[in-house]
Amino acid sequence: MPELNLILLGPPGAGKGTQAERLVDDFDLPYYATGDILRAAVKGETELGKQAKEYMDRGDLVPDELICQVIMERVDSSEAADGFILDGFPRTRGQADVLENGMDRLGRRLTAALLLDASDEEVIRRLSGRRICVKNGHLYHVDFDPPKREGVCDQDGSRLIQRDDDKPETIRRRLEVYHQETSPLVDYYEEKSILRRFDAARPPGEVHDHIRATLATLRLEDEL
Ligand SMILES: [Zn+2]
Repeated sequence: MPELNLILLGPPGAGKGTQAERLVDDFDLPYYATGDILRAAVKGETELGKQAKEYMDRGDLVPDELICQVIMERVDSSEAADGFILDGFPRTRGQADVLENGMDRLGRRLTAALLLDASDEEVIRRLSGRRICVKNGHLYHVDFDPPKREGVCDQDGSRLIQRDDDKPETIRRRLEVYHQETSPLVDYYEEKSILRRFDAARPPGEVHDHIRATLATLRLEDEL
C-alpha cells in the first residue's frame, strides 16, 4: 500500500480533531498535533524535549527550528513508516519548506494537504455556541447539543458559561491570525497540486466520506 502522508489545514472549530480521529481509525496512522507532540517530547524527556521545556518554563515560545526538529523526529519514526496525519504543522511557509526538504531526504513525499474549509460566520456560530459547566467542565452547544434547561448542566446542575476563548471577539482575532498564517500555505500546496478542499459546514459524517473517497482516488493514482 502506498504511504498516506497527510496534513490537516482549517480554522479552529472546523472539526479537524474529529476528522483526524476517524482517519486514524480508518488507516491506522499516527496523529501528530503540534501541541501534543511538544508535550510528549517534554514528558518523555527526550533531548529535544528538554530543550523545548527550557523555553516553555520561561514562558517563551518554542523556536521554529526546534519545533521542526521535534516534528521531523516523529515523521521519521517507525510508527509513521506507512504515513501520518499532521495537525498544526506546518504553520508557516518556512516550516512547510523544512517538511518538504525533510521528506525529500527520506525519499518520501506528502500525499495531500486536506483543507477543512469553513466561512468565518460558520466558525463563529459553532464556537460561540459552546458552553461549559463551571463544576466539571461538561460541554454543550446551544444549537447542536443544548442542555435540557438553559444555562444549567444536565449532569450536575451547575452553571454553564462561555469560555473567553469562545467569545465572538476572541474568535474573530483567532480567525485573523489563522487567515494570515494559513493562506500562504494554501497557496503553497495548491501550487504543488496536493491541496484538497472539503466543505466543513457539511455534517462530519459526510465530510469524512468525502475525504475517504478522495484518499482512495489518490492511492489508486499512486499505484498506477
Ligand atoms: Zn457539569
